[in-house]
Amino acid sequence: MSKSDSGISNLFWQQQEETVERPFLEACQLHYLRQTLRRVYDNVPFYRERFDKAGLVPDDIRNLRDLQKLPFTTNNDLRETYPRGLVAVPGDEIMRLHTSSGTTGKPKAIFFSRQDIDNSANLIARALTMTGTGRGDIVQNMMTYGLFTGALIMHYGAEKVGALVIPAGPGNTDRQIALMQDFGTTAIHLTPSYALYVAGVLHERGVDIGKDLNLRRAYMGAEPYTEETRRKIEYSLGVDVFNCYGLTEMNGPGVAFECAYKNGLHLWEDYFLLEIINPETGEVVPDGEKGEMVLTTLRREAMPLIRYRTRDITMVIPEPCACGRTHRRISRMLGRSDDMFIARGVNIFPQQIEQVLMSVKGVAQNYQIVLESLDDITVRVEISKDLFDGNIDHLISLRKEITDKIRAAIIVKPAVELLEPGALPISEGKAKRVIDNRTM
Ligand code: ADP
Ligand code: ZN
Repeated sequence: MSKSDSGISNLFWQQQEETVERPFLEACQLHYLRQTLRRVYDNVPFYRERFDKAGLVPDDIRNLRDLQKLPFTTNNDLRETYPRGLVAVPGDEIMRLHTSSGTTGKPKAIFFSRQDIDNSANLIARALTMTGTGRGDIVQNMMTYGLFTGALIMHYGAEKVGALVIPAGPGNTDRQIALMQDFGTTAIHLTPSYALYVAGVLHERGVDIGKDLNLRRAYMGAEPYTEETRRKIEYSLGVDVFNCYGLTEMNGPGVAFECAYKNGLHLWEDYFLLEIINPETGEVVPDGEKGEMVLTTLRREAMPLIRYRTRDITMVIPEPCACGRTHRRISRMLGRSDDMFIARGVNIFPQQIEQVLMSVKGVAQNYQIVLESLDDITVRVEISKDLFDGNIDHLISLRKEITDKIRAAIIVKPAVELLEPGALPISEGKAKRVIDNRTM
């Protein structure tokens, strides 16, 4: 879809706030930052101690760079202060509790005030509006409802823009397809791994996406995925896929979103202060250089976080975006530092392998990387039924093609297993791509 045809590139939820001049935006950031620092200093003993240790008081932070004088907040800090240690408001001002999905260990508890709930819905409303979703749209929300932020925050945001929201949750794919058909779903929100699965089922059932469905957009996030996966979903579901990024610690899915140009995600800088650091040294790196994203909440009441290390690897795209929004863009997540693994001494992210797989014809929706020793990687990948049942020579050459391409991408030569569709476990929540069977 071309942006000018669709006319969506110039849709704004809050035009003034989204296109605010940078100097003014930065002045607002400083104002909110100082307010936030004061709030945690006065209300959160954990942060007051941090200030004391650094020999600072909130008024010592006079510009945005001064923030670098304060230490990071880590995942571990959240666990150690669990459950309520970082709350900055009286208990009766808390209106909601969410926990992270715990992909990487014990869950973390995050609290919301009424204003926090409203703000997070507002950021989703910006994102939906800028990608063309609003009144008259039918949003089928296929994320997990419950303790996770993903579904509920999107739900509130989609209601805010006036869409009809179907709280479908994930799973039961035949029912999902029936809902799409019966109610004319125009937009879906789901994880990329589930989207790949849904695409496979649609294909198997012989659904004609052009005639039987009314889908236009898919909002995909919660897991890293590659440009190749995006293209595959766009092609097989007949939608525009928009990348949405967030994490429970930062109120869930509304942190950064792609606009109609689909070229990097605008990070809402009036709500979050963005830093990219070298994960080894902790030094802030310049725009355009990749590193770990560190975020400070600027407007959060119930549980502000200062310099929170997300462990997600990305970089700032320095050029301004053609859509006119002044909030800087970050690149698609290049990986999560927790997902990186080392084989034959090479640092590898699962996305590097996914990128290869999704560009090979005949490769279906699901794959897994199995680590058996420090040197060996096995890539198990489902291929289309026709190929699997077909000519053995084709299978051999397909396996060779995949092996060679992965080797070219990551230097290490993997063992490749071709599987029939459905052989690997289906993911309804977050996909587990790397199975680490190494004993050391
Ligand atoms: P966890 O997975 O840590 O239990 P969350 O459910 O809060 O907790 O997930 C947040 C994480 O999911 C992010 O830190 C990031 O690693 C990943 N994530 C979310 N959205 C995206 C996205 N669009 N692209 C890549 N990774 C994403
Ligand atoms: Zn843009």
